Amino acid sequence: MGQLDGLVAAKLAQRKEQGTFRSLKTVEGQIDFTSNDYLGFARSVELKKRISEAENEFSEAGVGSTGSRLLTGNSKLAEQVEKQIASFHGSETALLFNSGYDANVGLYSSLGRMANYIVYDELIHASVHDGMRLSRAELKPFKHNDVESLRAVLSELDGAVIVAVESVYSMDGDLAPLPELVAVCKEFDAAIIVDEAHAVGLFGKGRGRVSELGLEDEVYARLVTFSKALGCHGAAVLCKDNLRQFLINHARSLIFSTFTSNHSLLAVKCVYDMLSVHDYSKLNISHLIGLFNQSMKDASGVQQIGGESPILGVVIPGNEKVRAVAEVMQNDGFDVRPIVSPTVPKGTERIRICLHEFNTEDEVKGLIASLEKAIKNVG
Ligand code: PMP
Repeated sequence: MGQLDGLVAAKLAQRKEQGTFRSLKTVEGQIDFTSNDYLGFARSVELKKRISEAENEFSEAGVGSTGSRLLTGNSKLAEQVEKQIASFHGSETALLFNSGYDANVGLYSSLGRMANYIVYDELIHASVHDGMRLSRAELKPFKHNDVESLRAVLSELDGAVIVAVESVYSMDGDLAPLPELVAVCKEFDAAIIVDEAHAVGLFGKGRGRVSELGLEDEVYARLVTFSKALGCHGAAVLCKDNLRQFLINHARSLIFSTFTSNHSLLAVKCVYDMLSVHDYSKLNISHLIGLFNQSMKDASGVQQIGGESPILGVVIPGNEKVRAVAEVMQNDGFDVRPIVSPTVPKGTERIRICLHEFNTEDEVKGLIASLEKAIKNVG
């Protein structure tokens, strides 16, 4: 035990030395410019009320699901929620997973075994990487959002191919050129899978970018998470019944894990009830994104990332420097986080800023003033 513990301690010391040590924090009293709660559902009093009413209405549903979905974990409620989700997103079926991470691992590890190759955008999320690694497919990256790079990779391959992309990228907040990517996949008979984790709730009246662009029938599968703009937890794969049945038979993160709690299912049901009547014409978040973009244009010497979604970034090269800038802003009362290398490539370290429906214009202006001051102070 002593030898192993020594190695663990050395690894931690190495992280501290490299400035990449991670630790858990709780933050209180700061203005939220960092969480994924884009629409404010996680703090919605109305959603909380609906969930507790639903708990009374579905009082026969127990606390836990009591088993894997394939054993005792399945329920009429789960199947009803899946139908509701599939219908909202314009998909033949939906299959629930305990989290977006579980969904990607289950999907890519199992479906990847049917494919000869998985071709992925170089900025694809870690959960897709973990799933792909468990598959037996050969893995080939293509340049971020680069249609010609995808074409070049696909033109070299022979056999069954999966292409993995996100519709809104979690670190850069930029949008994938989905119609062009879909067209190239069609040309090479590749099956494209779109991770809509950061698009659901925001684009296409909440339905995601695939729906917004009318590409529902062109993509092989979509991943939607309830953990970001929907303020809840869990995820679903949207696909045709064939793939749904395949996943029920082969996705190990679904087969060998106790299914989500009934409370969680009711929360998802209620948030979709609300989403389906959400008035998107009144959304404040697009105005805040515009305000942020305009202010960044006016601020000299600042390199902005994103601008088309609520995920925004300001590049501050160097781990120490970006941490120092974040600290000044946190002391000013703004909850923002530094994203350091190697999470992002060296030289593109950044302050990641997420805007929310509940942020005010004054808060955004204050945030930018604090950012400018911090950059000046840190030098
Ligand atoms: N995909 C993407 C693109 C993500 O950003 C995340 C969460 N960071 C996930 C999947 C995993 O989703 P969840 O948090 O629901 O596990």
